[in-house]
Amino acid sequence: MICKYQELTRLEMEQVDRENTIVLIPLGALEQHGNQAPLGTDTLIATAMCDYIEKELKDEDINLLLFPVIPVGLSTEHKEFCGSITFKPMTYYHMLYDICESLAHHGFKKMAFLVCHGGNAPVANLISREVRSDFKVYPFVLNSGAFDHPAVKATISKGNTFDFHGGEMETSMVMAIDESLVKLETSEKGIPKNTAMKAHLSWLASDWVTEQQKPIGIGGDPKGATKEKGEIILSISAKEIVKDLILIRDFKE
Ligand SMILES: [Zn+2]
Repeated sequence: MICKYQELTRLEMEQVDRENTIVLIPLGALEQHGNQAPLGTDTLIATAMCDYIEKELKDEDINLLLFPVIPVGLSTEHKEFCGSITFKPMTYYHMLYDICESLAHHGFKKMAFLVCHGGNAPVANLISREVRSDFKVYPFVLNSGAFDHPAVKATISKGNTFDFHGGEMETSMVMAIDESLVKLETSEKGIPKNTAMKAHLSWLASDWVTEQQKPIGIGGDPKGATKEKGEIILSISAKEIVKDLILIRDFKE
């Protein structure tokens, strides 16, 4: 049984085997992704990823409830760029904590955050420990993009050395979802202002600049992005997430 949480009626929810159902909570963001990709890139990817996951799991015996995508996250690093919206860390913490508390109240034991924006990960990790301790449930944290997978890395154009936030991979994924949302002709390459800062200093998106030193807030060169590359990245990432969901399904303390 794979369903969207928001589509169930109360009576249908009463019938759900809540002890053995995983609630997957996708964590999106609303933040700048360069000139060319939309502010809702991470939320669009989160929504599409859930569809890919559902397709991948169609022959599996698994109880999975897809929670509505949380469309805003922690985007402090992007707030200097027009349109970026962020929760403050403690607001985000309390909001996600309360969702988990409600799920635990209704008898759900397994919940998994699907992190679709890296900035959300620290709070997701922190909450999972607190919620596990407070409610004796099993929260998991999964990464959405399989960016280290060799077949995903192979989609990056030759010479595009810093592909990262808002770069070729993310732009390709949005193109696979809806090509009309990407304005590739406006794209500019982002290069790190100071690579030494990466090891010890929290980064801000303005640390990524164009060749003319203009803050551009993205890593890499989106110019080589294509719909086909996006489909590969979404599909491989979904397959990787599915492996984890099967492990979570089979997990017993
Ligand atoms: Zn993103």
